[in-house]
Amino acid sequence: MIKINEIFYDIEGEGKNSGIPTLFIRVTGCNLRCQWCDTKYAYYKGKKITLKFLANKINKSPYRYINITGGEPLLYKKEIKTLLKMIKGKYVTIETNGSISVKDIKCDNISMDIKLPSSGEHKKMLFENLKYLKRKDQVKLVVGSEYDMIYAKKILKKYKTKAQIIIQPVYKKISLDNIKEFILKNKLEWKLSVQLHKLKNF
Ligand code: SF4
Repeated sequence: MIKINEIFYDIEGEGKNSGIPTLFIRVTGCNLRCQWCDTKYAYYKGKKITLKFLANKINKSPYRYINITGGEPLLYKKEIKTLLKMIKGKYVTIETNGSISVKDIKCDNISMDIKLPSSGEHKKMLFENLKYLKRKDQVKLVVGSEYDMIYAKKILKKYKTKAQIIIQPVYKKISLDNIKEFILKNKLEWKLSVQLHKLKNF
């Protein structure tokens, strides 16, 4: 059983698969408390659901892309590993906050955050995770200040990773121009992305 907050279809709003119709499974519970968290409603509320039900829902989804998010899915690591084995013919992303080991997680895309100082949770990161990520995976930097970018650059210099680095602003906290300038000035191969779901009135 996994405690699930919500199951819904939507367009992927961020990261390398941004824009793709996706089935989202949001687990209940998180071990962090980021200052700008936009899914606080998933901290406690939810319903226990069997792995069989979840696998069935996923395998029957009209969409190939599946995103298991939270909260923090790896709080249910044992169950998630079993669930991954029950899924057939789908592209599965696991979104994780970077504080729990991803060493033996096998899926199409581990989307791992590196929490930065403006989140207030940067001291809880498990940086050895970066070496386990592969080219198929992504590291998300959600930046709220120039200091966040300086911090991220230092971390990624110290802890190498093969994963694609994706940088996106905390909504209304820092301008895209500011981020672009930082990437180009520092010759970084970071991909700039915006959260589509925040552009409601575009
Ligand atoms: S890790 Fe994600 S769900 Fe948990 S507090 Fe941070 S933003 Fe919210």
